[in-house]
Amino acid sequence: MGAGYQKRLLIVGAGFSGTVLARELAEKGDLRSLVIDARDHIAGNCHTDRESGTGVMVHRYGPHIFHTSNPVVWDYVQRFSEWVPFINRVKASIPRGVFGLPINLHTINQFFGKCFGPADAKAFVQSLGDHSIREPANFEEQALKFLGKDLYEAFFFGYTKKQWGCDPKDLPASILQRLPVRFNYEDSYYNSRWQVMPKHGYTEVIRNILNHPLIEVKLSTPWEPAMKEEFEHVIFTGPIDQYYDYSEGRLGYRTVFWDQTEALGDFQGNAVINYPDLGVAHTRIHEHKHFAPWENHERTCVFTEFSKETEPGDIPYYPKRLNGDRSILSRYEALANEETKVSFLGRLATYRYLDMHQVIAEALEFSGGFLAANKKTSC
Ligand code: UDP
Repeated sequence: MGAGYQKRLLIVGAGFSGTVLARELAEKGDLRSLVIDARDHIAGNCHTDRESGTGVMVHRYGPHIFHTSNPVVWDYVQRFSEWVPFINRVKASIPRGVFGLPINLHTINQFFGKCFGPADAKAFVQSLGDHSIREPANFEEQALKFLGKDLYEAFFFGYTKKQWGCDPKDLPASILQRLPVRFNYEDSYYNSRWQVMPKHGYTEVIRNILNHPLIEVKLSTPWEPAMKEEFEHVIFTGPIDQYYDYSEGRLGYRTVFWDQTEALGDFQGNAVINYPDLGVAHTRIHEHKHFAPWENHERTCVFTEFSKETEPGDIPYYPKRLNGDRSILSRYEALANEETKVSFLGRLATYRYLDMHQVIAEALEFSGGFLAANKKTSC
């Protein structure tokens, strides 16, 4: 790093956290920053680009559907892209047939061979729940309490075992709470007020956020501890255990990988089909052209997704947050609290299962706090 970088901020990671922060600090604080990323592209795991064989916009690190009910976040992202309404209607393929997810009135009626209206369906599902569970202590208890054994085993048990590589009893109830259960025919995967896709992909959104004279970006540039000396402050958005060279142990993550194929026409008729059955090795299949229904492509590209434990060198995706992880995390947090020149921000640096809109909200909030503190220091 040359002397030219002195008196600037270093932001490690060009995903939503790092780039929103860089932009806010530039616009509201006139602060110059260098954003580095170890990969050869911006946008982190949201990175999209067009597949050369099909012309389809591909979400390289798995599908990202932007959804938020936060007007501040919605106003913010609209500055950087044209967004097209997009409702993710996920299907689950199990040996008995294909069902709609999240569980809704159609799923319930189809699964149990009933013609319930909302109130009867609700009473019926409540009658299936395990009432001996008062405060669900884990994923399985949450499912058994609110859905009962049959729906849990058909749609959640196998998928969760494959996705997380552990018994659902070992996972927090909060993972299941991500998914709504509805007693009407609404089958959007999310409840959020705004559910959209960027017209030209996420990489363009991030490129537009970074497009500011006070922001410089360097790709293929991994973080090195020595860099700290050359900047006034470092904001690290990578994995916190990596920052401390795994001194307190490795935090558990699941990683995902894909078998990629190309075909003519339409492969599965939907963007996402989940495979909860344990007899099938993959968790879900994504057909990326259905994430951009406003485009036309003769050919299609299909990603079959598998999940595995993260090993050194793999990209960490899903923080497991098992009990062992939590105690490791608290040791890293204690180290982080001692830092005066380094802050940690985002999904990997705080080891939480965050969606894009939450990451953006936190980056906006963090920048406000950072600027306020900075102002006080310079007065
Ligand atoms: N899940 C499941 N069956 C499904 C879809 C989801 O059991 O068909 C569980 C699974 O444990 C998953 C969690 O619900 O990790 C949250 O699902 P979500 O779709 O939010 O996961 P993501 O989109 O982040 O992969």
